This record gives sequence, structure tokens and C-alpha cells, in this order.
Amino acid sequence: MTFSALGLSDEIVRAVTERGYTEPTPIQAQAIPVVLSGGDLLAGAQTGTGKTAGFTLPILQRLTASAKPATGKAPIRALVLIPTRELAAQVEESVRDYGKYLKLTSMTMIGGVNINPQIQRLKSRVDILVATPGRLLDHLQQKTLNLSHIEILVLDEADRMLDMGFIRDIKKILAILPRQRQNLLFSATFSDEIKMLADGLLNKPAMIEVARRNATAELITQKIYPVDRERKRELLTHLIKEHNWHQVLVFTRTKHGANKLAEQLNKDSIPALAIHGNKSQAARTRALAEFKSGKLQVLVATDIAARGIDIIELPHVVNFEMPNVSEDYVHTCCPQTGITAFRWLQSLNNVFRGTSKN
Ligand code: AMP
Repeated sequence: MTFSALGLSDEIVRAVTERGYTEPTPIQAQAIPVVLSGGDLLAGAQTGTGKTAGFTLPILQRLTASAKPATGKAPIRALVLIPTRELAAQVEESVRDYGKYLKLTSMTMIGGVNINPQIQRLKSRVDILVATPGRLLDHLQQKTLNLSHIEILVLDEADRMLDMGFIRDIKKILAILPRQRQNLLFSATFSDEIKMLADGLLNKPAMIEVARRNATAELITQKIYPVDRERKRELLTHLIKEHNWHQVLVFTRTKHGANKLAEQLNKDSIPALAIHGNKSQAARTRALAEFKSGKLQVLVATDIAARGIDIIELPHVVNFEMPNVSEDYVHTCCPQTGITAFRWLQSLNNVFRGTSKN
């Protein structure tokens, strides 16, 4: 199966080929034709399966095919709602990359940063808006955003949106969108709440579900280090120094725990920064950029802040504590490295969990 065979234009195929994709992932092979046909979609897929391109590529194609003449200010035509700021920025970056040979434009709209540049940006053309719910509502309240021409809506990571308490925000946003539109809902899990949301939102949706990938045996070595709670930090320092680990992503359960651990690692002469919801967006973005570029040796993160962080071939992931949600055990380095949540581990105490590639 090729991307061209799915009906995508040469410009889009060129962009994905340059990104190194040779063939569609299973979610892409199934979702792209559905979205191109204009129908609603309910997709069971988690981060790491390639779902972003699964909805972005056909959206780009549809918007290009029905492009309005470029006279006056074109309206926003596609809205992608994402639960976390980092993921929203990442998705919008992908939209730009996949659409680099097209005339479409996109924008990230997230909280934690000054709203004024966003207001300025909205004065020029935006075809695809990638937003977190809170900041989007701020814009609606300030009447700086017009969503009356939305043709396609994507709810990404819908289960996480609900976990994070966004249901009321989502309902408010849905209420102001035009009734006639295409709806795509992506969720890793299907609770009753998600089913209710899907029932109210989707019109005769196609349903696809891709199996969780379990490629751990091939690509990821998982290690468990039994250790006394008081000595976990010491062991982490030892492992990082002993093996000269770089780009180590460490998950802690609490914001306070993340701060404390980053501080202690710095004292041990290991450059580390913490990211979590209490850090300013600028600080989070900076830490992530330094970590991605390899300048920062260790990034300590709470699961929510880190969810969806997409780093190709991330070499070391350490679960310093049990994740709050078992799905968070699945980290998204690339589709091949999606790993299955190990619920049984949750019954173990005092376990320091490490996963690494070597
Ligand atoms: P996602 O599940 O959308 O967050 O994608 C996870 C990762 O898979 C990202 O690093 C993408 O760049 C990568 N990816 C998406 N589609 C493909 C593909 N067809 N072939 C190889 N990698 C892909």
C-alpha cells in the first residue's frame, strides 16, 4: 500500500516521503479513505500509531480540493482540538510539514502564552486551527475568533480530554460550530463517557480500531530495578553516569516530585529540568527544545505534561514512579516503539522501572 494509492495528491505524498515515511501505518491506511470521502469517523488509536497523519493528510487534501479563491480573508475551515499544549504545538508542526507544498496555513492556539500575538495572527489567513480548549474559549469570549465556517472538526485524544475535565469546554465549543460539518474523534480508550460524547457528536461514523502495538520485544529493552524508595534517586544518578545516558526522559507522578528530582540531579552534576503544568509555557517549550536537541541530558516530567512528546528514537525512558494512568506507560518515540501498558507492574511497590533501548 502506498500513500498515492490512498488517493493523496502528489504534493502531500512528496512531503511525507521527505519525512521518511515509505508506507501508511494501519490507522492511516484505514482512516485516510474515510476522511477523504467526507464521512464521520470514530477511531480507536493511541499516540504512536501515526494517527496525526491519519487525519491531517486527508484534511489537507480536502481543504485544497475545495479551496476558495484567495480573495478577502479566508475563514478557518478545520479545527483540531487537543488536550495538551505540547501535543497541540507538535500536531500543528506536523500540519505545516505535511502541507508544506500546499497553499494552506495553520496556527497553534494554546494557553500559557501571551494572547496578543495570537489575536494578531488571527487577522491573517488561517485554514487549520490546532487548539487547546481553554485558550480557544478565551478567544471566543473576547470575540477574536470566528468558527462559523468550520467544515471539519477533530477531537484528538478524546479520552484524555475527558480525564482532564474538558468536557464542559468541549460542549461549549461544539455548540457554536456550524451543524453541517465532518467530525473525527480519536480516542485510545472507549469509556461510557466517550461513547456518549461520540453518540452526540458523530453522524453514522465509520469505526476503526487499530490494535495496540506491542513491539517492545523488537525495539525496546525493559528493565526493572528493585530498589528501596529512599535510594531511587541515587540509583538513577548511578545509572545515568555509569552508562553515560543522554536524552533521558524521567516520569514522576507529582509536580513537586519532578521539581525535587530535577534539583537533586543537578546537584549530582547531571543537567536536568522539570516540566509540568505549573511551569510557564515558555519554560516548558524551552526545556523540551533543549531536550530534543540533545543539549539537556535529563527531562523530568509528570505524565500529563509529557504525554505525546514525540522524539524520534528516544533512547531512555525511566518510570521513576508508577504512572497514574496505565496508558501513560506507552511512550511515543515512533509507531514502532508503542509499548503496551503493563498493568501488572502496578501491583509492585518500591519498583523503579526503566526502559531503554540498550
Ligand atoms: P502519532 O501517532 O501521530 O503521534 O505519530 C507517531 C510517530 O510516527 C511520529 O513520529 C510520526 O512522525 C511517525 N509516523 C507517522 N506516520 C508514519 C509512517 N507512515 N511511517 C513512519 N513513521 C510515521
